[in-house]
Amino acid sequence: MHEMSLAESVRDLIEAQAKKERFRHVRAVELEVGRLAAVDVQALRFALDIALRGTSAEGAELVIAEPAGQAWCMQCSRTVELAQRGDPCPACGSYQLTVTGGDQMRVSGLVVE
Ligand SMILES: [Zn+2]
Repeated sequence: MHEMSLAESVRDLIEAQAKKERFRHVRAVELEVGRLAAVDVQALRFALDIALRGTSAEGAELVIAEPAGQAWCMQCSRTVELAQRGDPCPACGSYQLTVTGGDQMRVSGLVVE
């Protein structure tokens, strides 16, 4: 389950921020998990629950956005939305696509006090 290692890297990032900015408690963690990131959001929530125990973000609300996948279609010469990796272009059916977005996971914000 790679969600656990992702959760641990989120924890490390929060801990580093907490040290740098000297906040005591994280009220909410905002995350972006792209639809093409191959991350199971349920598993990630579960993993974060465990990974954040005993840290400044223990019990923090997890606000997870799931931006759609985006790809550049060579045939259409434009950006199209992709539901999942390996799908053809929804407009023309071509497989000549380059994924340009929605394939990453990142912490987009922390609500601290
Ligand atoms: Zn196309």
